[in-house]
Amino acid sequence: MTKEHENMTVKNTTFELREMLEASTSCVIFTGAGISTESGIPDFRSPTGLWKNNMPIDFRDFVASPEARIEAWRRKFALEDKFLAAKPTRGHITVAHLINIGRATCVITQNIDNLHQFSGIETDKIIELHGNGSYATCLDCHKRHEMKWIGTVFKATGMPPECPQCGGIVKSATISFGQSMPEQEVQDAQTASLACDLFIVLGSSLVVYPAAGFPVLAKRNGAKLVIINREETELDVIADLVAHEDIGDIMNPLMEMKPASLN
Ligand SMILES: [Zn+2]
Repeated sequence: MTKEHENMTVKNTTFELREMLEASTSCVIFTGAGISTESGIPDFRSPTGLWKNNMPIDFRDFVASPEARIEAWRRKFALEDKFLAAKPTRGHITVAHLINIGRATCVITQNIDNLHQFSGIETDKIIELHGNGSYATCLDCHKRHEMKWIGTVFKATGMPPECPQCGGIVKSATISFGQSMPEQEVQDAQTASLACDLFIVLGSSLVVYPAAGFPVLAKRNGAKLVIINREETELDVIADLVAHEDIGDIMNPLMEMKPASLN
């Protein structure tokens, strides 16, 4: 594709997307790793991603083995600077704008990077399917623990701390391999998918279930489906609008949109 052709495709996609948003009364946005790559957050699943060189640590191993826990925390803190330095992308900022002006009801995300919160979306409008890596919780009493404290203990002793409240195992608040999906979030995502008339996917290859099931659910229930992702996805064939372009380029002009009541 020539650069000129690419610009036209982006412009047309933005135009169509804007019309769909204007016609919608209930839009849900779904985000995956692709919305964060511009911010420097590594994509774990991509061919050059982290998991290619480091096999993910299974949840059962994490619980069973102190060595696995030490290795999990070592990896976590090795990446911590990248996560802390990451800023919301144009994609995140536009998603926040659309939600804050009432053009979209919520965002369902596969990401754990906290960038939707960082971009100014209220917590109750963010459904995190894979948890959040910016803090930790106790696996037993579910008390929240801050990374800074865990990092200090880990650096000083080479061991992650136990939960001061109950002695339980402290783990990053993400959903690991082998760990069951969070019931409440999955249910909330299902409810949102069934309630919407427009479902927009940004930067997800839609291969991981149950996440990939939500756009299908929305579409079957009569919603329009939009997929914006660098690579093709298996759901492109059922989508009403597909673009394999840059998310920021397509989304950024939507910052001009006003609340529906001002139309
Ligand atoms: Zn505890």
